[in-house]
Amino acid sequence: MERLLIRRPWDMHVHFRQGEVLDGLVRETARYCAGALVMPNTSPPILTYEDALEYEFRIKNVANRAGYQHFKPLMALKLAQNTSEQTIWRAASSINSIVKAVKLYPRGVTTNTSDGVSAPLEKNLQKVYAAMQEVGMVLSIHCEDPNADVFAAEEQYLPVVGLLTHLFPDLRIVLEHVSTRAAVEFVQQSGPNVAATITAHHMRFNRNHLLKDGLRPHLYCKPILKTENDRQAVHAAAVSGNPTFFLGSDSAPHPKNAKETSCCAAGVFTAPILIPLLAESFEDARMLDRLEGFASIYGPQFYGIVPRQSAALLTLVRETEQIPHPRSSEAAVLPLAGESLRWRIQY
Ligand SMILES: [Zn+2]
Repeated sequence: MERLLIRRPWDMHVHFRQGEVLDGLVRETARYCAGALVMPNTSPPILTYEDALEYEFRIKNVANRAGYQHFKPLMALKLAQNTSEQTIWRAASSINSIVKAVKLYPRGVTTNTSDGVSAPLEKNLQKVYAAMQEVGMVLSIHCEDPNADVFAAEEQYLPVVGLLTHLFPDLRIVLEHVSTRAAVEFVQQSGPNVAATITAHHMRFNRNHLLKDGLRPHLYCKPILKTENDRQAVHAAAVSGNPTFFLGSDSAPHPKNAKETSCCAAGVFTAPILIPLLAESFEDARMLDRLEGFASIYGPQFYGIVPRQSAALLTLVRETEQIPHPRSSEAAVLPLAGESLRWRIQY
C-alpha cells in the first residue's frame, strides 16, 4: 500500500459560523489540520479584538473537548466602513495577539456582507491599512466587484487591490479563493507581499462541470467556477511550488434542501474530503511531492507562524474510498458524492 506523509495542513480560509453548526465544523477541520484562519463574516460579525477573543475561546473549547488540543485557530476581523485604526492597535497590542488578519468584503459581495466596505480607499480606512502595515497584520480580500457580471467580478476588482499595493507596499495582502487566470497573474507579478489562497474545488472544476450536463447546485459557489483556461491557471499556480499560493478551502456546507431548491445557496462543502481531493489534483500533475508545501507550509509561513518542532504528521494512503451521500435532507452534500477518491487519510 502506498503511503504519503505530510505535516498537518493549515487551512487558511475556513467558515466555522456561529450557533449549533459550529461544533461539527470545528471538529471536521481540527481532525486533520494543525490550524486554520477563521473567517469573520458570521452573524453577528467579528469586528473587534474582544469579538475575536470570545470566538476563539469557543472554537478552542470545541477542539479541546473533541481531543484536538493541537488545533490552533487564527482569527480575522471583518473590516467595516467605519473601522478605526484604534481597532488595529488594540488587536495588535495584546500579548500573543490571536488576530492575524483583517478581511475586506466589498459590500454585498457574498453571504453576510451588507455591512461590508463600499469605499475601500476612504481616509479612515487608509489609516487602518497603515496601522496594519506597521504591526504586520495581513489584509485578506474577497476580490470581487459586487456590481460586475459574476464571471468578470474578480478581474474587475483587481485594480483596487493594485492601488492598495501601490499605496501600502509593505502591507501583506491575500487574495482569497482566486478563480481566474487574471488574478493568478496579478499575484505572480506582485512582490512577495501579495499572496493568494486556492480552494480544492477551483483547482478541480470549471463552469462546464457546474452548468453543462444539467445544473449542479453542489458546485455552485462564490466566486463562481470559471472557464477551463482559468481552472488550468489556478491548478498550475497551486502545484507550482511558488510559496505565495497556498491552501484555503472556503469549505461552506449548506443543508441539502438549501442547495437543491429554486434559489440555491452559494458554497461547496469539501472539508471532509479536502486533503484526498487535493492529493488527486497534485497527483494528476505528477506533483504529489509539492502537496505538503501548498497545504501545510506556505500558508502559516506567510502569516508568520513559527512551525512547531514536533509538528504532527498526517498519513495518506492510496486506497479507493467512496464519497458518501448525506444521511438526511438536513445534511450537506459533498461534491462528487457517490464517486470515489484514490486517497484517504489514515487516522
Ligand atoms: Zn469564504
